[in-house]
Amino acid sequence: MIDNCIFCRIAAGQAPANILYQDDHVTAFWDNRPAAPLHILVIPNRHIDSMEQVNPEDADILGRMLICASQLAAQYEAAHRGYRLVVNVGPEGGQTVYHLHVHLIAGRRLPVFHG
Ligand code: AMP
Ligand code: ZN
Repeated sequence: MIDNCIFCRIAAGQAPANILYQDDHVTAFWDNRPAAPLHILVIPNRHIDSMEQVNPEDADILGRMLICASQLAAQYEAAHRGYRLVVNVGPEGGQTVYHLHVHLIAGRRLPVFHG
C-alpha cells in the first residue's frame, strides 16, 4: 500500500468511495467524475503504477480485473447494449491516477474510437 495513492487508500477502506465489488484481489467503485451514465473503475488491490509496469507474473491480476469488469457490465445490464473498457497509460495516454485501473464506460452511444 502506498500511503499517498488515492486508489490504494480506497482499496484499503481508508478513503471514501462507492464500492460496488471487492475481493482479495480487486476493487470496483464508481468513478467520481463520470464520463457516461455508467462509469466504474476496476483496480488491483495491490499497487501497480500502470500498464507500463506489468510483467508476466501479473497475468492473474490483469485477468481478474477484466473479468470483474465484464461481470459488472452484466450486473448493470450494460452488456447487451455494449460498453467500453479503457486503460489509459502514461501522459500521452491520458493517465492521471498512477494506480492501474480499467474504466468500464456504458449507458450512452460512445463515439467510434479512431485514436
Ligand atoms: P485516468 O485519467 O485514466 O487516470 O482516470 C482516473 C479516473 O479516476 C478519472 O476518471 C477520475 O474521475 C477518477 N477518480 C479520481 N479520483 C477518484 C476518486 N477519489 N474516486 C473515484 N474516482 C476517482
Ligand atoms: Zn496505489
